[in-house]
Amino acid sequence: MGRVVSYNDEVPKCTFCGKTEHQVRKLVTGQGAAICDECIELCVSIISDERIKDVEVNALTLPKPMQINAYLDRYVIGQQTAKRALSVAVYNHYKRVNMEMREAASQVGETGGKHNASGNDPLRDVQVAKSNILLLGPTGVGKTYLAQTLAKVMNVPFVITDATTLTEAGYVGDDVETVLQRLMQAADGDVSKAEHGIVYIDEIDKIARKSGENTSITRDVSGEGVQQALLKILEGTIASVPAEGTRKHREQEAIQIDTRGILFICGGAFVGLTDIIKNRLGARESGFGAKWHDHEVPDEELLQQVCADDLAEFGLLPEFIGRLPVISVLQELKEDDLAAVLTQPSNALIKQYMKLFAVDGVTLTFTDDAIAAIARTAIRQGTGARGLRSIIERTLQDTMFQLPSLDHVIEVVVDGDAVLGEGNPRIIRDEENVDTQSMPSLGVAH
Ligand code: ADP
Repeated sequence: MGRVVSYNDEVPKCTFCGKTEHQVRKLVTGQGAAICDECIELCVSIISDERIKDVEVNALTLPKPMQINAYLDRYVIGQQTAKRALSVAVYNHYKRVNMEMREAASQVGETGGKHNASGNDPLRDVQVAKSNILLLGPTGVGKTYLAQTLAKVMNVPFVITDATTLTEAGYVGDDVETVLQRLMQAADGDVSKAEHGIVYIDEIDKIARKSGENTSITRDVSGEGVQQALLKILEGTIASVPAEGTRKHREQEAIQIDTRGILFICGGAFVGLTDIIKNRLGARESGFGAKWHDHEVPDEELLQQVCADDLAEFGLLPEFIGRLPVISVLQELKEDDLAAVLTQPSNALIKQYMKLFAVDGVTLTFTDDAIAAIARTAIRQGTGARGLRSIIERTLQDTMFQLPSLDHVIEVVVDGDAVLGEGNPRIIRDEENVDTQSMPSLGVAH
């Protein structure tokens, strides 16, 4: 390296502070410039501070578990245990993500010697492992909805995928990287946003290893292969994702996504799992096992006892289970819960239909009887809250067909009979303004 000399006096000096090589420990010289060790340290610390500031800006504002729980309460009925577990898990997940971003940024500072306060920290080298979440529970109890609402409260991109559509690499179908690609789309192409997203993988029980009578899947790709393929991204890896869906194999278009900050929430009904738990508990003659012998324990209570061994016997790989350490069981929704789902949340279904009718100046009223009938019908269909919308849709279909052609309608009242198909919603008109001459006949649109 050529020695730089201050051309006035021929003595080498730091271009930044002007000190000579005798006044500092080290003077690094280059073509036409020089810098001393003190100025290098200062620069490193400025850069490090800038990086830390960037991290503070990028770090997610982290609501506390109680705040997350309160937000979930506004949308999701019941499921208190799952809500608490999820609030804590999501909080810890993003706390770890923020912590890792700060650590990465401060590493530069440490080499510069300014931010080495953590050098004495005994926990300095501890790496917090990633905790993804497994939700167990029947259809329509809010597994997907909880995951989606969590993404909303955290303000992160969210995608839902179905494990049954995933394949091992090389098979026809979506390989697991496609999920990340969709997350990129949900993040408007912003990689750092996608790296903090939430992925909900539904029907995870359908990729259990086929063992005996537990599963009845007919698919040419083995569920085990898909579990293997998911392992890496669940744990945290740098995945190479094609930039655009159609150009699948153009390597130069690949984007690198670090999945350590992505929270995976897997959900499934796990039909047959209660039998496995029952067998295990029955085999033990004490504690809960004894209770099980004496009484018929409800499935939900049994599910609460689930452990890794049960999931392994169900057909999930031990490594796969290991990556889903937070397990939460969701309860079947009873008639009262479904009635609450219909009426209480901020965007409750009944409110949505009321809004649709209100646009035309019509008040839509559901009697208590109607609400109960809708809830009972959904329970009979075994679809949980998923069936509610189609029951309302069916009940109101004729009315919604006729209404735009009717004048002076002020209210539509839906009662239990209308829900059960034994009557029609009652259409109430503003009698004072009805002009019988000009009343159009039902069903004739203008
Ligand atoms: P799952 O994933 O458990 O099969 P979903 O979350 O997809 O069920 O539920 C379907 C729909 O039913 C949701 O979009 C939501 O509108 C409603 N829903 C389900 N469970 C609840 C609940 N506990 N509280 C409020 N709405 C719910």
